[in-house]
Amino acid sequence: MFEIEGCKHDGCLLTAVTGTGYCFYHLENPAEVTEGISRRLKENETIKNLNAEYIELSDMSIAGKNLYVSRFSHGVFNRVDFSGCSLRIVFFDFCVFRDCLFKNTDMKYSVFAGATLNGCDFSSSDTVHCNFNRVTAKGCSFNGSDLYFSTFAYSDISDTTFVDCNLKKVRFNNTKRIEVSFKYSNYEEAFFGESPRL
Ligand SMILES: [Zn+2]
Repeated sequence: MFEIEGCKHDGCLLTAVTGTGYCFYHLENPAEVTEGISRRLKENETIKNLNAEYIELSDMSIAGKNLYVSRFSHGVFNRVDFSGCSLRIVFFDFCVFRDCLFKNTDMKYSVFAGATLNGCDFSSSDTVHCNFNRVTAKGCSFNGSDLYFSTFAYSDISDTTFVDCNLKKVRFNNTKRIEVSFKYSNYEEAFFGESPRL
């Protein structure tokens, strides 16, 4: 994992946005920093070692990019297009995603734990070894995706479809599910038990 520095503001326990020394709350001009990161995401094919905890991005496309070992924890993403992205060890824990696209992504070892996913499309993707524990997902699609070894434990999932997915070794233990479809998927190979299995 890359080095993450703490925010320089006295007593602040948050992490510093890459290249600034301060967290988003203690930056002098957070809008300018957000703009800079947004430009970096749009202009580069590969983004690595970026820490942008608490960033808020709306109405943009970073489709087809490679995002490696980066951190967007607690961020807010509105209508952001991640389609066709390749993600490795990317942290989106506790983020809020509204109407975002993750179609045809190739995602490994990435973390969405504790995130809120509203109207997001993860279809036709390789989403393996990813952590969706304790997410609140509503109106999402994972159709046609390989979710091998990903986990949704303790999640609250509603109006969401997992049609024609590979669910081998996927954990759905302790989930609350309302209007969730697993049609044409190998759900018998997923784990739905009520207590975590070691
Ligand atoms: Zn701070």
